[in-house]
Amino acid sequence: MGEWQAMTPLPAPARAEIVVDLGAIRHNVRRLRELAGVAMMTVVKADGYGHGLAEAAGAAREAGAEWLGVATIDEALALRAADDTGRILCWLTVPSEDLAPVVAADIDVTAYTLAELDAIRAAVADAGRPARLQLKIDTGLSRGGAPMAAWPDLVAAARRGEQDGAWTVTGIWSHLAASDEPDHPANDAQEAVFHEALAIAATAGLRPEVRHLANSAAAILRPSSRFDLVRVGIASYGLDPAPGHTPDLGLRPAMTARATLALSKPLAAGASVSYGHIWTADRATTVGLVPVGYADGVPRHASNVAEVQVAGRRRPIRGRICMDQFVVDLDGELPAPGADVVLFGDGGHGEPTAQDWAEAAGTISYEIVSRIGGRMTRRYVDSSPRFREDHES
Ligand SMILES: *Cc1c(COP(=O)(O)O)cnc(C)c1O
Repeated sequence: MGEWQAMTPLPAPARAEIVVDLGAIRHNVRRLRELAGVAMMTVVKADGYGHGLAEAAGAAREAGAEWLGVATIDEALALRAADDTGRILCWLTVPSEDLAPVVAADIDVTAYTLAELDAIRAAVADAGRPARLQLKIDTGLSRGGAPMAAWPDLVAAARRGEQDGAWTVTGIWSHLAASDEPDHPANDAQEAVFHEALAIAATAGLRPEVRHLANSAAAILRPSSRFDLVRVGIASYGLDPAPGHTPDLGLRPAMTARATLALSKPLAAGASVSYGHIWTADRATTVGLVPVGYADGVPRHASNVAEVQVAGRRRPIRGRICMDQFVVDLDGELPAPGADVVLFGDGGHGEPTAQDWAEAAGTISYEIVSRIGGRMTRRYVDSSPRFREDHES
């Protein structure tokens, strides 16, 4: 036994890594799908919000997600390449992109304009099969989507394409501007415009399979916005889409970012730390070196503000976060190099969360998890193996 242990030592913890709990994603998707009571589209764009495209998608499907949502064609095709055979919607293309592979792969594409309908028609000819088409109305976000003035022509052209066999219009959708502020007047206003757009489409003869408006915050906070399907991104990863408004749903943050302490050493009173010397020790203390920086997606805006957990204790970052490293105040203690540093996790053991980092850096948790990475490796764990989850209520 001793010999076996000597020959197969536990792997040393990585220099810096992202640990993703797929059981947490499954739990969250299941919980949110139950709550919404309509079809679930789990949004896995941007590499699954930094959690891994194929892995997040697989967990979402296991938890019952009928749809996956992505921004780009490449993301949609990557899901097919990872053997996902379910419904997938993508919504952000540019004129130079070839849509034929998307049509051939049975992916739902979104059109905002008549020019995009022409491009999809050309792709249908190339692919030799009809497309699945969704139409997006701009109800007030003033980002993508057809403005109301252009909507009657867009739905009429879409209906003609349906009648001549170019495509099936599978969905009509829009996106909210302020769903994280439940009392913001834009929510009611956009929902009213969406109803108007649906009525115009119905008059033109369109009978889409799914009408959808809600992202995470709306899916949780605004039942009237759920329609036939909700597009849930951030909440699937266990993060709060509307801090201060969301009820406790028992969602579990799926991502932990951790590193290995590189160095600890004493620091004299009056010594200043890191570039620009923006922090000076007012007493003798000890400091530790954490080997990740802004090139790994650690936000430089959190310099001198955020905290991490070193060997089980919360420690403040001192001075500027650098490209590859930053310094923490160890308050007189000298944990040995090699100690565990948790930048953020689910908060269950006193460590900061991605939401804490967002507040420290003046941003939202979406940006923290989708940008962390760089040279960090990613590892998957599973807190709730499927055979146990099958018995979860
Ligand atoms: C990213 C995105 C979503 C998901 O938003 P969350 O707030 O993360 O739930 C939904 N719909 C569209 C169009 C998106 O771009």
